[in-house]
Amino acid sequence: MANPLAQAEFVLSANALAQLPKDGAAEVAFAGRSNAGKSTALNALCQHAGLARTSKTPGRTQHLVYFRVGEGRYLVDLPGYGYAKVPIAVRDHWQAFISRYFQVREPLAGLVLVMDIRHPLREYDQQMLDVAFKRHLPVHCLLTKADKLGRGEQSRTLLQVKKELAGRASVQLFSGSAKLGLDEARAVVLGWLQAGPHNEADAHG
Ligand code: GDP
Repeated sequence: MANPLAQAEFVLSANALAQLPKDGAAEVAFAGRSNAGKSTALNALCQHAGLARTSKTPGRTQHLVYFRVGEGRYLVDLPGYGYAKVPIAVRDHWQAFISRYFQVREPLAGLVLVMDIRHPLREYDQQMLDVAFKRHLPVHCLLTKADKLGRGEQSRTLLQVKKELAGRASVQLFSGSAKLGLDEARAVVLGWLQAGPHNEADAHG
């Protein structure tokens, strides 16, 4: 079956809310600590090797990067500011910016949180979960680099993370390089894009 995410194409990168698309199309955000495997996951989901850069240049990571997926739907690559080379002041700035994005960005339909299966639910991840939950946004967690663990350890970590999330977010095993969990993750993302923006009224209604 054709993969609708394979249409993904770069649209713009932005470091201010005023620069974001204004067409109201639904968007799914991807977040993850630096090196979690977010670029690899995006590239694998969209079957496009060079789509999200795997480069670690700080300048590049300090932007929201928008990819259009046909008919004005977007995937948004959020900056993974949690790495050592970024000064604390810069990190704080980005944290505030991302919190604001989650508060006010109406077209948001869901958050995909990318975590290295060997280091799940770190401080950055908890912060992202907090801002998403505050707005009642659905969250799906990818435990990436699952190929680095044996089956037993994969299952144990999956269960542990599920337990800690206590039903507030869905979670799955994933590996972009070993092509594990691609269909499951695509189904979640496409479901959200089709359902459209998720607002407070939906959450309470
Ligand atoms: P990002 O900083 O979150 O965008 O992370 P990248 O996608 O650039 O990946 C960081 C490193 O982890 C790179 O060396 C990738 O090749 C590696 N990596 C990413 N995903 C996987 C995976 O599923 N399996 C394995 N074994 N390595 C991975």
